[in-house]
Amino acid sequence: MSIEKIVSLCKRRGFVFQSSEIYGGFGAIYDYGPLGITLKKNISQLWWRDMTQLHENIVGLDSGILMHPKTWEASGHVNAFNDPLVDCKECKSRYRSDELVEEDQEKIDWTTIQCPRCGTKGKLTEPRQFNLMFKTNIGPVEDDNNIAYLRPETAQGIYVNYLLTQNAMRLKVPFGIAQIGKAFRNEITPRNFIFRLREFEQMELEFFVQKGDDEKWHDYWVEKRLKWWVEQGIPEKRLKLFDVPKEGLSHYSKKTVDIMYAFPHGEEELEGIANRTDFDLGSHTKNQGDFGISAAVAENKDSTTKLAVQSKNDGGWQIPYVIEPSAGLDRGVLALLNEAYKKESLGDNKERVVLSLAPHLSPIKAAIIPLKKNNEALVGLAKEIKLSLQSLRLGRVVLENSGNIGKNYRRHDEVGTPVCVTVDFESLDKKTVTIRDRDTMEQKTIPIEGLKEVFTETIKK
Ligand code: ATP
Repeated sequence: MSIEKIVSLCKRRGFVFQSSEIYGGFGAIYDYGPLGITLKKNISQLWWRDMTQLHENIVGLDSGILMHPKTWEASGHVNAFNDPLVDCKECKSRYRSDELVEEDQEKIDWTTIQCPRCGTKGKLTEPRQFNLMFKTNIGPVEDDNNIAYLRPETAQGIYVNYLLTQNAMRLKVPFGIAQIGKAFRNEITPRNFIFRLREFEQMELEFFVQKGDDEKWHDYWVEKRLKWWVEQGIPEKRLKLFDVPKEGLSHYSKKTVDIMYAFPHGEEELEGIANRTDFDLGSHTKNQGDFGISAAVAENKDSTTKLAVQSKNDGGWQIPYVIEPSAGLDRGVLALLNEAYKKESLGDNKERVVLSLAPHLSPIKAAIIPLKKNNEALVGLAKEIKLSLQSLRLGRVVLENSGNIGKNYRRHDEVGTPVCVTVDFESLDKKTVTIRDRDTMEQKTIPIEGLKEVFTETIKK
């Protein structure tokens, strides 16, 4: 599916808007409209439910976007590179992109530039600014002593709350802390709609395990997360697991498997599952020398707390390993919209656009349509039906009082409403309604009495 069709539907039907459009838009920031935020919340709430309700040993957290700047020093984010860099995939040389080519950086086609060392053309990566963090200042004056960063990942908020959470909830390794929240990265080459954003949302689980059990748990989470995306409506054949090669691993990772999805612009990462070893807690702990940390951590003189657990094998104290499934919520929305969008021919040169979202994710669950606009008896009954379906609290149910059934069907197909219920004169006499299925367009007449059950079954499907 072409990205333009999705962008256009998103704007027309209130899923996603370009930020600050009335001022010409704002780079790589998008706003979610009424239907988009509902879809996004449906996805994130499911993730939250699956993590924190279906696993007794996973608990939730909501930490601040702004954190003590020492966090980002210890985590390695501040000390990483500060310039936009390009890599040569051939000879592994690395250059500052603005030194290599002095033109407007956004306009350069890096595939046409030659590597000065090995002379190969077409092997330079797009520039990445290694320090992607946005800076701000805390307090009334701007100076170097009060810098704060907008978090580039939610994970660090979990590490700094690790011990407080463990004690409060009396948790024993293995256990996990889940968090959903905004993250910010000053991406140099943002593109592809909501795929690469400067402000985005992550759904991250940090799962703490004993060293030695880490590889087993890594495999477990890769499989589990792949299955989860399939359950949300992405066919397994459109997802691939990619073992990130050593040279592509983040500074904290021993192994990362990316779940790749066939986005409209190509196959790219939807979620990454990293084995972050004891790097993070090891970086943030006090008394680092006491715990035989395996990762190469920088010295930490600032932490006030030991972040170790007692080993089940020898009773010694050690830093847990971390397995991190980290998913991009915006990328999830894009992938699911892309899977759901279909154009179908209806014969007679007519066609329809249908968004075949899994019903549990659809932003509107049902539309109730009286056959005649403003007919008191029909509209009255339609309202009653709406209220009875609303009372199930399965999602948004709307009344369409325009009298044009065909148009209503088309509009609700386009936004993915799984059920349309028509109220006609037979509904008054025989207490029946016509229920139409979005995907098959099949219509069935059923007793009003049975509607709640049929509706519930459809939505939970
Ligand atoms: P990429 O290689 O695509 O830049 P990454 O490896 O830097 O991604 P991670 O640091 O592993 O990404 O972040 C975890 C998840 O957060 C990613 O799988 C992705 O879904 C999401 N994510 C990361 N950066 C962005 C972004 N700029 N816009 C939207 N989502 C993002």
